[in-house]
Amino acid sequence: MPGSGGIKAAPALAEKLAKLGLVRPDDLVLHLPLRYEDETRCFTIAEAPWGEPVQVEARVVDVAVQFRPRRQLVARVRDAAGDELTLRFLNFYGSQTKQLEGARDGGRTLRLFGEVRSGFLGPEMVHPRYRVVDAEAPLPDALTPVYPTTAGVSQTVLRKLIGVALADADLGEFFPAFDTAWLARHGMAAFADAVRYLHHPPPGAPLAALQSREHPAWRRIKFDEALAQQLSLRRAFLARRERGAPVLAASGELGRQLLARLPFALTGAQQRVVAEIGHDLQQPHPMQRLLQGDVGSGKTIVAALAACRAIEAGWQAAFMAPTEILAEQHYLKLKAWLEPLGVRIAWLSGSLKAAAKRAMQAEAAAGAQLVVGTHALIQDAVDFAKLGLAIVDEQHRFGVQQRLALRKKGGDAASGAIPHQLMMSATPIPRTLAMSYYADLDVSVLDELPPGRTPVKTKLIADARRDEVIAGVQAAVAEGRQAYWVCPLIEESEKLQLQTALETHAVLSEELEGLRVGLVHGRLKADEKAATMAAFATGEIDVLVATTVIEVGVDVPNASLMVIEHAERFGLSQLHQLRGRVGRGAHESVCVLLYAGPLSETARARLKIIFEHSDGFEIARQDLHLRGPGEFIGSRQSGVPLLRYADLEADAELVELAHGLAERLLRDDPAAVARHLERWLGSREELLKA
Ligand code: ADP
Ligand code: MG
Repeated sequence: MPGSGGIKAAPALAEKLAKLGLVRPDDLVLHLPLRYEDETRCFTIAEAPWGEPVQVEARVVDVAVQFRPRRQLVARVRDAAGDELTLRFLNFYGSQTKQLEGARDGGRTLRLFGEVRSGFLGPEMVHPRYRVVDAEAPLPDALTPVYPTTAGVSQTVLRKLIGVALADADLGEFFPAFDTAWLARHGMAAFADAVRYLHHPPPGAPLAALQSREHPAWRRIKFDEALAQQLSLRRAFLARRERGAPVLAASGELGRQLLARLPFALTGAQQRVVAEIGHDLQQPHPMQRLLQGDVGSGKTIVAALAACRAIEAGWQAAFMAPTEILAEQHYLKLKAWLEPLGVRIAWLSGSLKAAAKRAMQAEAAAGAQLVVGTHALIQDAVDFAKLGLAIVDEQHRFGVQQRLALRKKGGDAASGAIPHQLMMSATPIPRTLAMSYYADLDVSVLDELPPGRTPVKTKLIADARRDEVIAGVQAAVAEGRQAYWVCPLIEESEKLQLQTALETHAVLSEELEGLRVGLVHGRLKADEKAATMAAFATGEIDVLVATTVIEVGVDVPNASLMVIEHAERFGLSQLHQLRGRVGRGAHESVCVLLYAGPLSETARARLKIIFEHSDGFEIARQDLHLRGPGEFIGSRQSGVPLLRYADLEADAELVELAHGLAERLLRDDPAAVARHLERWLGSREELLKA
């Protein structure tokens, strides 16, 4: 089969190529230009547009090494029309000086490529690329591709290798003809045409459409890449589905008893999602469901009802949260809900004393029906007797490995059965992103907030007006409310962060004389943290100074004021999560974003978004727009390599199309699936399955 061997290159070069991900001829074929340079025509110096890459042909009239303001090689060139241009090289070799002098003395022509701009002596080019040629040397008749590369692999070498690969590799279509016709109708080129075109754009190719990647050739490449990603994720999903899972058959009686004791009724969205989960849990293959719901949408009760089903069916459930504060809060809430119904609950966190931890591990093994905890749950020493359901709260805080580890804890090695998995996230993920990163999950959305919430009013206040904010805190407390005060974020240094928290607490204790001011931060011992949180929850503390440890999940309905200091340092989703800590009771709530100027452009954009929007999905969409998907989701998250060519936002339409075709190919055409994945991922597909 053509193209199945490796790249023919000396070992040292092969090693460098491998670093670029270039191992097979197929990889070279898909190593597409970053941009193009137009060397097909030459400008005269007078006509060359300034500030964009152009080619100019001229002869050298003068070469000198100057020492002021710093050592540099300066040459003057003159074109056929008699106009002159200065060339400046700040880094140069002695051989270069000789070469230019040789060209001058021999009367030979330079083909210069670079940007003309205004210099001290008229137009100049800094560090142009140049070649010494004979005056009649023909110009290239195609745009020159510029490839992503690394030290020691020149453009020339890449061009040559890619040329060979294009001849060697199989560039055929893998899809049935009606699919390729369908692609054409959606403005895409055939694969072979697309790659040949992109590597060697013919004379007259539209440079703008190539650079902006809107050309039909690019559309096809981006589509194929998105398709490979969809196929791979979907295949992993289907493979996991093949595994067995315990059928959690339950009458739902335990859940009904829990609901009967609650002071509220489920929202329509909660009812719908509870039913979706209930259905999944009765299937003989593992549920892999992501529950998305904005801050405060009531995910915890949904999780508790899922746990009830597992417990009623005679299995254990585990509930994992990313922080001690959150895990403990869940533990206390679930205990209050479920212990009266006779459910045995255990609590497991990393900070338990050794003996207590052993006791809890034993309890988990011996059959606590619900085990709540931090990532201590996935440590090796914990053995669940009969884990049927694993719940992961704020799942985006965990890496893939941690999520997988919890799944491995349960089930039944003999039959290969694995527990059902419910992941929850308050970081709403826009649809295309969800499709790409969670194509391996089913998604449920809580798109309705419980009734009776008062919308949070957001205020942007410059820190010069801090006094007014202090007065606001005093007023809120005087009315019987409570407040959070979030310390400035110092991401680079945990030590400085701690110091800042302590200082903020000291200053506020003075400024808010007479009020009870508490402090929580990441370095407190778990029991100290818990005691402070409990005191805040019961109203013994008026103002809670906190670092972002309160960012997720904390629920104190009487707190109606949130002050975030140096709000400009926080990310959008952090701000949204923090703001979500208030507005949980019946009282009018306010979130004050204190900022210190001058603001960078992105900080300004972030604050504007959070000020204008309260809907988490909209904020996430804008965040994605601001930051791009890579940073938005964090690659750590997903184990999915970022797309190289397709852009999840700009190419959302192509991702949708790919999603649809992936479903159909997986059903009807396994051979095409295998060949497409081989072309795009080769041996890398294993990575995607993590
Ligand atoms: P999140 O989705 O952010 O995890 P929680 O589960 O913490 O939200 O719920 C937020 C608050 O809303 C909790 O106090 C919870 O008890 C309450 N709650 C949940 N569902 C409802 C409902 N249907 N009606 C009224 N309050 C509810
Ligand atoms: Mg929550």
